[in-house]
Amino acid sequence: MRTINHWIGGREVDREPERTGAVYDPATGQQAAQVACAAGDDVDAAVQAALAAFPRWRDTSVVKRARVMFAFRDLLERHRDELARIITSEHGKVVPDAAGEVQRGLEVVEVASGIPHLLKGDFSENVSTEVDCYSIRQPLGVAAGITPFNFPIMVPMWMHPIAIACGNCFVLKPSERDPSVSLRVAELYAEAGLPDGVFNVVHGDKAAVDGVLDHPGIAAVSFVGSTPIARYVYERGTAHGKRVQALGGAKNHAIVMPDADLDSAADALVSAAYGSTGQRCMAISTAVAVGTAGDALVDKVVERASALRTGPGLAPESDMGPLVSGAARDKVAGLIETGAREGAKLVLDGRELRVEGHEEGFFLGPSLFDEVSTEMTIYKEEIFGPVLIVLRASDIEQAIALVSRNPYGNGTAIFTRSGAAARKFQNEVQAGMVGINVPIPVPLAFYSFGGWKQSLFGDLHVHGPEGVAFYTRGKVVTSRWPVPRDSAVELGFPTSN
Ligand code: NAD
Repeated sequence: MRTINHWIGGREVDREPERTGAVYDPATGQQAAQVACAAGDDVDAAVQAALAAFPRWRDTSVVKRARVMFAFRDLLERHRDELARIITSEHGKVVPDAAGEVQRGLEVVEVASGIPHLLKGDFSENVSTEVDCYSIRQPLGVAAGITPFNFPIMVPMWMHPIAIACGNCFVLKPSERDPSVSLRVAELYAEAGLPDGVFNVVHGDKAAVDGVLDHPGIAAVSFVGSTPIARYVYERGTAHGKRVQALGGAKNHAIVMPDADLDSAADALVSAAYGSTGQRCMAISTAVAVGTAGDALVDKVVERASALRTGPGLAPESDMGPLVSGAARDKVAGLIETGAREGAKLVLDGRELRVEGHEEGFFLGPSLFDEVSTEMTIYKEEIFGPVLIVLRASDIEQAIALVSRNPYGNGTAIFTRSGAAARKFQNEVQAGMVGINVPIPVPLAFYSFGGWKQSLFGDLHVHGPEGVAFYTRGKVVTSRWPVPRDSAVELGFPTSN
């Protein structure tokens, strides 16, 4: 059985791990490898490697740091297909979808390549006579990332390229369910010329996470995952004096107005609800049909969703792959059962699907519920599978209030031909990322990504300008040249002259 081990100080650890977890191929349901599960000692070894590398890395010129990112970017492009296949083999998503997440991660590296520009400070000459004032931003030291299974390359890349380009060293604790691609990323960083110890990977579960949260050598933690764990990471990390940004779960709503182009809205809903088998934090899992839009919209969604081909992610003819694990498949199937029992109308039932030759794979077909109400479990819980639910609203006010009342606030979208409706929606809705006739409004890497309410604990979003702010501290210098000859003791509070 292949063992996926930690990457510390520029190489994969060759010691046999004391504890391991199983890594599955979701298309066959069979165990494909075992992953090392770190204890506190392994985390400490990674942090010590990072602390040892930090003084030289922070003093490496910002231009040289940017050049490593340029080289890393080229390697990612050259290995895009290989990386996508590694992701598919452990996550299950279809290869073009995996290649898309490689691309979105690569775009963060492109932004990190512009770090000399992003780290420029301000300078004010003569704030007082012969006194200048300027600001600089400096790295924090060692930053850590704790990431979910659903984007095993892109979500870590929201973090480490920016942190490292800013002059920090990094310890990544990726999801234990699809850990292999993080090791390949570590190898590519080394090939790009990143010094040993600047980027480290420790695998594992809660013990590894707690080791990160409690370690005094780690200055900042970025987390992405489910809401209960995000809250836990935020509270425990900040209690230890760390800077923490913790992105949580989601229940993203799309409002479909009666004036929308219903064919285009249905295409968007089906793509955003069932892409990656619904396992995207920006998936549209809830449609809110306004006024007369409902019946026609449901018919159009059924027509499109029924035509999707579900099968192994590596098969070119598959539109949708399996779920990540047997537990995930059973949880989603259980929620479909609950939805039907609580009175929602099950229009499409994905539990009936059989994938020939892959009977043990973690598959579910697309499911669709109509006539859902806000009291139902399938509305209240994040399902995180290929299930779209439809609610009805009588007008835009009611629809926006419904979206804004939801405890999550990651992303939301509206489909309409009315500029006035779109503007009202973007202005009033309580969510961090908004799409107008765009189903998955994931901001490009030069903007920042993050939700509101239960979808984010902390102040700053990831990547873009807020990522740079998160991984650096500001310092303001006030300097006087030449040294004054006519100085005297003056106990009054200094003011500009
Ligand atoms: P998860 O919360 O189970 O795991 C995330 C990370 O936390 C993993 O590294 C895992 O090892 C660790 N972890 C799990 N249980 C833990 C515990 N008890 N104590 C300490 N650490 C623990 O999430 P997941 O199932 O891997 O990913 C899916 C979730 O992530 C969904 O809720 C999804 O919405 C969310 N997500 C959010 C965003 C966003 O941008 N807001 C992006 C991607 C995924």
